[in-house]
Amino acid sequence: MPDPYLLTPGPLTTSAPVKQAMLRDWGSRDETFIAMNRRVRARLAELAGAEDTHVCVPVQGSGTFAVEAALGTLVPRTGRLLVLVNGAYGRRMVQIARVIGRDCRFLETAENEPVSPAALDRALDEDPDITHVAVVQCETTTGLLNPVEEVAAICARHGRALLIDAMSGFGALPLDARRTPFEAVMASANKCLEGVPGLGFVIVRQQALEAAAGNAHSLSLDLHAQWRGFEQNGQWRFTPPTHVLAALDRALDEHAEEGGVAGRGARYRRNLRVLLDGMAALGFVPLLPAALQAPIIVTFRMPADPRFAFDCFYEGLRRRGYVIYPGKLTVAESFRMGCIGRLDVAVMQGAVAAVANTLGEMGVRSGAPQRDGDSTP
Ligand SMILES: *Cc1c(COP(=O)(O)O)cnc(C)c1O
Repeated sequence: MPDPYLLTPGPLTTSAPVKQAMLRDWGSRDETFIAMNRRVRARLAELAGAEDTHVCVPVQGSGTFAVEAALGTLVPRTGRLLVLVNGAYGRRMVQIARVIGRDCRFLETAENEPVSPAALDRALDEDPDITHVAVVQCETTTGLLNPVEEVAAICARHGRALLIDAMSGFGALPLDARRTPFEAVMASANKCLEGVPGLGFVIVRQQALEAAAGNAHSLSLDLHAQWRGFEQNGQWRFTPPTHVLAALDRALDEHAEEGGVAGRGARYRRNLRVLLDGMAALGFVPLLPAALQAPIIVTFRMPADPRFAFDCFYEGLRRRGYVIYPGKLTVAESFRMGCIGRLDVAVMQGAVAAVANTLGEMGVRSGAPQRDGDSTP
């Protein structure tokens, strides 16, 4: 049986050439590896339209390591962070700020609503001590696309620094430093870039990074020191994730071949269309209206049919070669299906067919959820 397709928010399905790019061992001082570091860092900054103003600093670890490195390095110990929260990843930034001892406030909206630019505007008016604002571009908890352009414009107007967790959409959703001013963007190798897990990165305004010496709460998550290391000798400060970087280098070739951010985003939108239409035909209802739905991951409401049991559903799909993801919502019971990674329309059609067959096996006639205010399905 081949590996199942991962319809999840990560780790994700990668191409065979990306996996094959890892079949070598590099020394950390190897010239070809140092050149690869330089190339990958430059390409990532270019993807964000930030090559003239920002630098890309990679960090060993999962995406959260990069978020923690960015918050700890860029928000000074005397600073104050305001986080816009509408899901688990916004909440995680609040948690990081607390653990590392940064003064942190947050503005929360419901998980099925975008963050509020108007509330942000008021908060910045009222509190001149807020130095930094953090927001999640696509909140993977639900798949919701937040209005980062409006948020960035408000931060710029108030002269506050903006940190964007663009983890789940980087490389597929447009985000350009020349149009959406930001101090830093945090992302990772293994979401829309379709590399393998093990490396996060921060694209950070060089002036802000220069001013951030000595801020960090941590030795290994000090972005300033990590950057100085790269500038001095092109090397990582500590053991580099050599194979992960090689895979990302290859994944960036594939990204460019597909037409960059526009091409990758277009494939994911086609995947989303097939998923939404196919699931709707089976009665399933997504949590979000189309206007808020990013082409990354879809949250479906749990079917009302009492014969539906998520564990059987999950197992049935797993046996048919598709891995889905439980919901992470606090507002309603749900599950999630992603449309990112090396997946195309044929895979999504296969996934929808597997859903139909699994429902049949369970004796569930429809995926329709309980209607609001209705106690009988
Ligand atoms: C995946 C993701 C992260 C990082 O999660 P890790 O498990 O640490 O890789 C952060 N923010 C968002 C929005 C994400 O989707």
